[in-house]
Amino acid sequence: MIIKAENISYTYSEGGPFEKEALYNVSITINQGDFVGIIGHTGSGKSTLVQHFNGLLKPTSGKITVCGIDTLDKKANLKKVRTKVGLVFQYPEHQLFEETVRQDIAFAPKNMGLSERETQERVMWAASLVGLTDEILEKSPFEISGGQKRRAAIAGVLAMQPDFLVLDEPTAGLDPSGREEILFQIKKLHKETGITVAIVSHGMEDIAKTVEYLYVMNKGEIAMQGTPLEVYAQYELLEKMGLDAPQITKLMKHVYGVNICTVEDAKEYILGVAHRA
Ligand code: ADP
Repeated sequence: MIIKAENISYTYSEGGPFEKEALYNVSITINQGDFVGIIGHTGSGKSTLVQHFNGLLKPTSGKITVCGIDTLDKKANLKKVRTKVGLVFQYPEHQLFEETVRQDIAFAPKNMGLSERETQERVMWAASLVGLTDEILEKSPFEISGGQKRRAAIAGVLAMQPDFLVLDEPTAGLDPSGREEILFQIKKLHKETGITVAIVSHGMEDIAKTVEYLYVMNKGEIAMQGTPLEVYAQYELLEKMGLDAPQITKLMKHVYGVNICTVEDAKEYILGVAHRA
């Protein structure tokens, strides 16, 4: 088990004039090899929740264990937690600062005290996982495309060889082809390495065809959970939470009365109908 959160709540600035309860009674279990999505309106508590996954935040009440470590335990090795859970923040490329992409990806393994040879092996491994070529590794992070920058930043986290990769809005600000590419790489990474992945997003369509299980957050709580199909089938409920199901889901329900959440599945269904007619 990677994450076991039991009734965790979190309040910012507790007792102060700006006190804000951001998480309320959240229980969530994420197992080794899971590929989950966490969706919700802005301010619903997604970022607050995932910062509990690597011990950056500790619950105000409740309990969370990360790879078996209770983060509230005074003796907890939080440094270990942070190498086991790689958290990729929003717009991670803003943290690229070295002269070359290679040096940027090498930053974390170097800091972990690995030898130069081991570090370079990690760099090559992480770069290949996100589809960055040798040529790109020698470039400055400022001369590559937005999508490549984002992949370089993700590779920098992967170079720690975490057990669990958490990506906060990995497609934010990218053009459609950049979005497709990054999700394709994340899906491939999960398939090839079996790494546990959680993607935080408010982009419904993107996530529907990527993850295997979804948690929907609303006002600091987990309001719904299930496979993307199960969740999007309840699109009226999602709309009440200020979320929109993929257009294709609504269309297919309207026209054919079926639950479908990706364009590919809709195409298959429609061709099947045409074939049978
Ligand atoms: P999301 O990631 O879904 O947009 P957040 O977890 O960032 O949501 O925020 C949840 C709630 O907590 C929001 O009401 C937000 O304004 C509040 N919040 C987030 N960070 C802080 C902070 N550092 N101090 C006070 N309130 C915060």
